Amino acid sequence: MSRVPLLDLQAQYAPLREALLRAITRVCDTQRFILGPEIEGLERELAALVGVEHAVAVSSGTDALLLALMTLGIGAGDEVVTSAFSFFATAGTIVRLGARPVFVDIDPLTFNLDPVETERAVGPRTRAIIPVHLFGLSADIERIVETGNRAGVPVVEDAAQAIGATCGQKPVGGFGTLGCFSFYPTKNLGAFGDAGLLTSNDPSLAKRAQLLRVHGMDGPYRHTAVGGNFRMDALQAAVLRVKAPHLAAWTTARRMNASRYARLFREADLTDQVILPIEPTGRRHVYNQFVIRVSGRDGLKRRLDERGIGCEIYYPVPLHLQECLSFLGHREGDFPASERASREVLALPMFPELTIDQQRRVIQSCASYLRQRTRLAA
Ligand SMILES: *Cc1c(COP(=O)(O)O)cnc(C)c1O
Repeated sequence: MSRVPLLDLQAQYAPLREALLRAITRVCDTQRFILGPEIEGLERELAALVGVEHAVAVSSGTDALLLALMTLGIGAGDEVVTSAFSFFATAGTIVRLGARPVFVDIDPLTFNLDPVETERAVGPRTRAIIPVHLFGLSADIERIVETGNRAGVPVVEDAAQAIGATCGQKPVGGFGTLGCFSFYPTKNLGAFGDAGLLTSNDPSLAKRAQLLRVHGMDGPYRHTAVGGNFRMDALQAAVLRVKAPHLAAWTTARRMNASRYARLFREADLTDQVILPIEPTGRRHVYNQFVIRVSGRDGLKRRLDERGIGCEIYYPVPLHLQECLSFLGHREGDFPASERASREVLALPMFPELTIDQQRRVIQSCASYLRQRTRLAA
């Protein structure tokens, strides 16, 4: 049986190749690589796509988070409430600024911040809340923003995996004080390298972020703040401007693939062994990853690996148990839902061009393992 990749970037590249090469050539011919019209054009187009007033193109999703926290003036002695179950950057950027991540456990059904626990974690030192729209599903963002508003604490959305996801018709990235996106090649809108975006409806914060993006330089070699180099390359902006108009169609295709997976798992009678991703009412999942939960996950992963079915564990170690964060003093058992997710999650092949034939092969391989396991247990 032929392999099924976790992600097939070639399938997306092939039909856009000419347009992408033209866009790259356009930048090369101008020899304008830093800021300039490509960046401004992309910022306008993505602000419209996300439904926000301001968008600031930056060097990566990680730098969008770092810049967001710097824009809010977060530093030593401050606390930032966030999820114990996310990609490392969500917590790493907090620590890099000398602030302390205060972790909150996830809702096991959505993998996103538990809103009740979030409320409880906010204290007098809290300077921001970072909900993560994990795997492409909006967190319970309205409640989290309410919590932030009540406490007078800004919300920074980590929307790295969720461009185009909505909650009550409104796209993520526009709920909080600031929104952070990544265009890492595996994200739903992927650049040809690293790139990211910061969004806001607050003009003064957007201006502050633009300043900090260029080392806080307010006039030629006059620095009014200590920022960094957080600029996106014009070449990446040109690539993203070709791809962005296709995002809606790609998202529709991802959603169709997700509902096909659900149907195929049901038809194969595997839904008593596998927990499928859910989509709470009013929230539109964009399936950056299609993540199932299964007990005995490692055995299933080995079987899929043997059969050439791409799959990955996002994330095998929750943030509170990461070695470099041991100074926070957490122990196993502190965030049980996150720990359990780390043991049970498995991402299956997901990309817009995935065919039903490929999906059938994924299901067959899952079934071969899960049915054998059931027989052995019987
Ligand atoms: C990808 C990702 C980031 C970081 O984005 P980069 O562009 O890789 O720096 C941050 N948070 C989450 C949840 C991500 O998935």
